[in-house]
Parts: sequence; structure tokens; C-alpha cells
Amino acid sequence: MLLNQQLVQQFVTHAITFGDYEQEDCIYIQNQLLRILNASGIDTDSEAQLSEDATANTIAQYWIKQAVDEHCLEDALYKKENVEAQILDLITPRPSVMNRHFAEAYKKSPEAATNYFYEMAKRNHYVKEDAIAHNINYEVETEYGDIEITINLSKPEKDAKQIAKAKAEPAKHYPKCALCVENEGYEGSVTQAARTNHRIIHLKLDGQMWGFQYSPYAYFPEHSIVLSEQHVPMAINKQTFINLLDFIEQFPHYFIGSNADIPLVGGSILSHNHYQAGKHTFPMDNAAEIERFNMDGFSTVTASTLHWPMSVIRLKSENRVDLINAATHVMDTWNQYSDEAIDIRAFSNDGERHHTITPIARYRQKQYELDIVLRDNQTSEAFPDGIFHPHADVQHIKKENIGLIEVMGTAILPGRLKEEIRQVKTYLLGDKSLDLGIHQQWAEHMKQTYDINQQNVDDIVGKEVGYKFKRVLEDAGVFKNTDSGRQAFKRFIKQL
Ligand SMILES: [Zn+2]
Repeated sequence: MLLNQQLVQQFVTHAITFGDYEQEDCIYIQNQLLRILNASGIDTDSEAQLSEDATANTIAQYWIKQAVDEHCLEDALYKKENVEAQILDLITPRPSVMNRHFAEAYKKSPEAATNYFYEMAKRNHYVKEDAIAHNINYEVETEYGDIEITINLSKPEKDAKQIAKAKAEPAKHYPKCALCVENEGYEGSVTQAARTNHRIIHLKLDGQMWGFQYSPYAYFPEHSIVLSEQHVPMAINKQTFINLLDFIEQFPHYFIGSNADIPLVGGSILSHNHYQAGKHTFPMDNAAEIERFNMDGFSTVTASTLHWPMSVIRLKSENRVDLINAATHVMDTWNQYSDEAIDIRAFSNDGERHHTITPIARYRQKQYELDIVLRDNQTSEAFPDGIFHPHADVQHIKKENIGLIEVMGTAILPGRLKEEIRQVKTYLLGDKSLDLGIHQQWAEHMKQTYDINQQNVDDIVGKEVGYKFKRVLEDAGVFKNTDSGRQAFKRFIKQL
């Protein structure tokens, strides 16, 4: 395989403009490209193959396709991703250089620094904007305000060959997990993501070193991950509030939150302590305050409950230390709190802990805010998947854990729903031959409730998905939005 000379020159220009290279490096870059793509030389005869303004990623994708077509590269997703990351590493500054640029931009403003980093992560295709664009996104109006629905179609499916190969592969112990800092620049393998073009910004939170990176398959603008530089398990405690507010102090234009630290109510990775941050206003941010209350000993802190399907206490203060202490008091009280009448139990008889919180921090109207979402991960005979987890009748839409992003009112729904919902619509429009399986009951309900036709079917089904998600959140709420639930919430608040 030969690489088109014109295209190599175009790529070299990107590497010099954005990477660590200078004009004298152009032959060196050319030879790196030949090595990465398993190519044998340069084609000096043919015309340019892409337009002059082709991005580095467009050129990389062109070469990857060429390499596959000419049998220089196996047509396996992980191999192609590996080559892509290596090519685009050439247009990415070294970690030290990038951290220096970030620090320089930060002197201008925190936004300038995150803009610099985000643009770089999009340019080198670490953040996969093109894949993210495949997601289906819309909003649904509910009594809690508009909630957001995302059907996640961005992550490419692993093919059967890769799954089989990965199974045969011996377990890897380096890096310890997908979040470890050792992923920076790591080549990847059949079981590990390609990270040659991956970069991490190093931050201090309360004197400790943390890494800051963007998420390749973002669920909202500038979706980022803040991770401990140590591979230590998730833990929600006073230090969490200190760290979250320290981050907000440094990046007041971002929110930051953490998944819970026990199974069933948290995210998918409990083994490595991390937070999620970004530049987005979530539905819960706009939730109305229901009732304000005071907490003894925290006079600078305003506390309120929110009109929201999950049980949230919002704390606000200009004083960070007071806010941290008040949040710790709420969390400690909840972690010990039981109310048998409504199935809330902090511990099982064998001493297993069931309570934790999902915390979210932001800076708004010159005040720090901490939202404390109360969580309980018990299971029971009636609810084997979780008492405060999506119940069986809504699991056809969402059966996964309700993590930080969902808590805030943004549904991340599985990609399978795209095709399944299309079938539901076909059925509703009269094709009786379809067996809808897990969606059958839901479809019958819609059929009885609405007069459905070609014009309104998209709208009705879209809204009904939103209502199901609202129910998912209500299931996850510990104090229900009923008279008895609100009374129970008041009993808890009296303890504060
Ligand atoms: Zn790790």
C-alpha cells in the first residue's frame, strides 16, 4: 500500500499546527504514518484524494479504509480504532505540553482552558462527535418540568469475532481499569480501548492529585470525568463534598457530581473513584423548591426539598465550609435513617449498609449549591431487582441502574429501543402480525388511551417513553410524591 503524497503533506500540516512538530519533522512524521498503517511507500503520481480543508480525522479515516481494502489492516473494529488513535496522536501535544497550554489558557479564564482542551479532544477524535450525533435526543414535558430522553446509539457494537478473541485473551492487569491514569497514551488491545491519543489534565482537589478528561461518548456538552490518580474504590463521604466544591471553585462554569458508592444505585464502575462534570443545565437544576427549612447550627445554609420524582435536598450557601458541614450532616443522618412504614432501612439485619447519596455541585447566582439525592439499595421478595429501582413494568424501557445523569432527569436509554420502538409504532398503526414481547402491554395501553394515526404516532410514543422514564425515576425515589410520602420526607427532615 502506498500513501498519496499530497495527503501526507496535508496531514503533516495538521501535525505541525496542532502537535509537537516543526517543519524539519515532516519526513519523520511521514515514516511514522507508514509504520502505523503498515504501508510500503509514498505515491507521488496520483492526484490529491481529499479536499484541501480535510480534517486530520477525515484523512485518518480515509487511510484506515484504504489499509483495510488493500489488506494491510485487519477489518476488526479494535484494530481500526487502535490505528486511528496512533495516527491522531501525531496531531496531539505531549501530555506535559498540553498541561502547560491548559495552565496558560486558565490564566485568561477557566472557560478558555476547558475550551482549549475540549477542542483538542474533538480534533484528535478522542471525543467522537460524529458517533454522538447518531443518538436520538428529545424532551418531554412532565409535571416536574421537561425531562430529557437520549437513545444511545453512539457506541459501536463489538463484532462477534472481537468478542470471541477477547474471551480467549488472558486477563490484563495493566492498566488496572478503564479509568486509571495509566491509560494515557496506552496502545490498547482486543480487551482494552485504544488510548494513544488520550490526554489527561492534572488537577489538585484539596491538595490531592486528580485527572481531568473528556468522555469519548458524551451524553451532554463537554461531558468530562474527574478521576482519582490512585485506583481506589468509589467512596461518598465528607471528602467528596470538599473535592466537588474545590472543582467548582476552579471551574465555576461546570457542574460536577458523583455516582453513588454502593451497588444498584450507582454507576457501572465502583472500583475507581471518579466524578462526572460538564457544561449542561439538567432538568433537575430547574426543579422548583417545595419547602424551605433551617438546619440547627448551619445559619448560612439554605435548605429545601425539590419538586422532583427522586428525593432531593438542595443546600445553598456562599460559605463553602458551612455548606460542606451541612451536607455531611444530611448524609450522615440519612445513612443511619430507617422508616419501616415505607420500607426504608439503613442496614439489613446482618449489618449490610443500604444507604448512600448521589451528590451534585454547582455554582449559581454567587452561591455554591449541593444537591443531595437520597438513595437506598435494598431488595425484597416483591422487588428482587431493588425496592428503589425501576420496577418490572417499566424495565422494558430501562432496567439498568439509575446513576448520576438519570437522577438529574436525562434518560440514557439502550440502543435496542430504536428498532423496538419502530415496531411498536408499526403495530399501533395496524400491523397486528407483530409480536412486541416486552412492549406488548405498553402498546395495548397506548391503543386504548389514544386515537393513533400516521400523523400523531411519533409524538405519542415519544411522550410515552418520557412518561415511562418519569416512572423509572419515581420508582428510584425513596420518599414518594404522595401525601404519605411527603409526610415521611418531613419526618426525616425533622431529624436534621
Ligand atoms: Zn483504575
